[in-house]
Amino acid sequence: AGPLSIDDVSKTYAGARPNGAVRALSRVSLDIGEGEFLSIIGPSGCGKTTLLNMIAGFVTPSTGVVRRGAVAIAGPGPDRTMMFQDYALFPWLTVADNIAFGLRAKGLSRRERETAVARFVDLARLKGFEDRLPHELSGGMRQRVSVARALAPDPDIVLMDEPFAALDSLTRDALQEELLAIWERSGKTFVLVTHNIEEALFLSDRVVVMAPRPGRIQTIVEIPLPRP
Ligand code: ADP
Ligand code: ADP
Repeated sequence: AGPLSIDDVSKTYAGARPNGAVRALSRVSLDIGEGEFLSIIGPSGCGKTTLLNMIAGFVTPSTGVVRRGAVAIAGPGPDRTMMFQDYALFPWLTVADNIAFGLRAKGLSRRERETAVARFVDLARLKGFEDRLPHELSGGMRQRVSVARALAPDPDIVLMDEPFAALDSLTRDALQEELLAIWERSGKTFVLVTHNIEEALFLSDRVVVMAPRPGRIQTIVEIPLPRP
């Protein structure tokens, strides 16, 4: 448990181009408090996804360290889940099985899993669609499955990589309101990566702007927002 601290982190992807490695992040430091809703914005290619993937534990820093409390993050863990722009649902699993996926790792009984799935089916307004496959759903519904799958294991930290980018504006507005309501009553830490400043301003209590070229020392400008 504890806040996240990103401490002087750099990332170079080796051999990504014929003519050499790509420096994706340079010496980024950032603290993220427990229960905070933080947005990270910046132009395409500045390293936002790399940073988010490091918090998730999918990407290892080349130098520097990401910590949760006093403990260095060394890989994915049940305290952190992620949502993606393309939903990344398991196409061969039903809505219910997608939502149940992260629950197996938590060692819950079948009964407990069923209860949790039913709760998150309700929360994501997916009642009646439990046995559908992802390709049978609209984009908005798929992203709601992805929200339910991310929240069902009760993570402390929810990471979101452009989760609204593929949605039409009405669907996006509705999902944003829902996520905000969930965040407000859950006490979880939400970290959103987006290139949409309006989205960031609407949703978060703090906006971090990463600027602008990977390979340089990254400038991070923080915009604290008063909560109404
Ligand atoms: P953003 O999310 O801000 O668009 P990314 O973190 O996706 O930025 O990418 C930062 C830089 O690292 C870009 O130049 C990108 O091409 C490069 N990059 C990202 N992921 C990889 C990878 N797996 N292998 C090689 N290069 C990568
Ligand atoms: P969202 O705004 O979440 O994307 P839509 O506007 O696509 O939802 O759909 C609204 C409602 O229409 C859904 O909640 C669902 O009841 C129904 N619906 C949408 N797509 C499908 C589908 N492929 N099969 C059955 N019902 C659907």
